[in-house]
Amino acid sequence: MAEHELRDISIIGGGPTGLFAAFYAGMRGASARIIDALPALGGQLMALYPEKYIFDVAGFPKVLAKDLVRDMATQALQFGATTHLGEVVSGLRREESGEPGAGHFVLETATDTFPTRTIVIAAGIGAFEARRLGIEGEDSFEERGLYFKVLDPGQFKGQRVLLVGGGDSAFDWAVNLQGIAKSIMLIHRRDGFRAHAATVNQVHELQRCGQCELRTFWEVKELHGNGRIEQVTLRNSKTDEEETLGVDAVIPLLGFHSDLGAIKEWGLDTQKADIKVDQVMATNVPGIYAAGDVTSYPGKLKLIATGASEACIAVNNAVHYINPKAKVNPGHSSNLAIFGQKEE
Ligand SMILES: Cc1cc2nc3c(=O)[nH]c(=O)nc-3n(C[C@H](O)[C@H](O)[C@H](O)COP(=O)(O)OP(=O)(O)OC[C@H]3O[C@@H](n4cnc5c(N)ncnc54)[C@H](O)[C@@H]3O)c2cc1C
Repeated sequence: MAEHELRDISIIGGGPTGLFAAFYAGMRGASARIIDALPALGGQLMALYPEKYIFDVAGFPKVLAKDLVRDMATQALQFGATTHLGEVVSGLRREESGEPGAGHFVLETATDTFPTRTIVIAAGIGAFEARRLGIEGEDSFEERGLYFKVLDPGQFKGQRVLLVGGGDSAFDWAVNLQGIAKSIMLIHRRDGFRAHAATVNQVHELQRCGQCELRTFWEVKELHGNGRIEQVTLRNSKTDEEETLGVDAVIPLLGFHSDLGAIKEWGLDTQKADIKVDQVMATNVPGIYAAGDVTSYPGKLKLIATGASEACIAVNNAVHYINPKAKVNPGHSSNLAIFGQKEE
């Protein structure tokens, strides 16, 4: 076990909320770290929709998810917050020293321990994993023709692509892989779609122009290939008809399972899969705050913008918790000496 140094604030989750929390910690002069289960910063933005435009982040008429993450990371890490990627936080304990309540927390992953004065849980929807097709042998084709997310659309250049699913991701890629993939078929096991109506209409239009084939009541029955996918057998759930087609890539976009995992066992008040917080983003455990998609309170909106606001509130209150003489109100960044400005 590698034991790291004591930090003021440890942030669980390096999505947009965790990144903004790291920035605010640095701006307030608090030492911070980010721990994330994924191999890269960015949370859902990098794992699920790096190539999609986001239109509702203040200051950006539109911004690609991956570009927003790049700039948020630059902003977040400027004060020396460390990042520990590919590590799932599972354990939490308290280490008391001297006076009761004078100790600190210790977060644990499989390999490391992280002593910390306070914690900001920005774990989003938890450590998440794409829903799989649930058919025999699919594991052996993963990344060999079977992809559960699209990180680089260019990888499907000239390929015969089969998209599976009825939600936004499947429909968005049926549109966004146009001009890249050689052919696109989208199948869904029902004839109702969760995708945005405008995108569904776009796909119907592409179908009319022969640029996409949309089939309902079809599902993947078998994958075939020697080392990588070459063919797929589809089954019609209404008629039991089967058809085997040549494909280069199968992309199931069926949503994802998410799980807060061991965090649920930490004695925090929860509501369904979310952590209950009060108006200063404090959980029921003093010194542990939460922000972003993981939180629950009346009127909660799960958005990047609200996560940033909550990160700001959580961190400023964590700073005050560590040092009650430190004001909760951070003042205006435009006046702060830390940015080379003259303090008013
Ligand atoms: C397809 C799609 C499109 C979207 N479009 C928009 C949009 O246009 N505008 C908008 O505002 N929002 C949008 N959202 C929602 C937005 O992505 C979320 O609100 C945002 O990602 C929440 O950020 P977060 O940092 O709170 O959580 P997340 O982004 O979920 O990040 C949480 C991080 O915590 C990590 N983590 C979880 N548990 C652990 C653990 N135990 N140990 C270590 N790490 C852990 C995860 O690996 C993850 O990286 C969209 C979401 C999707 C799926």
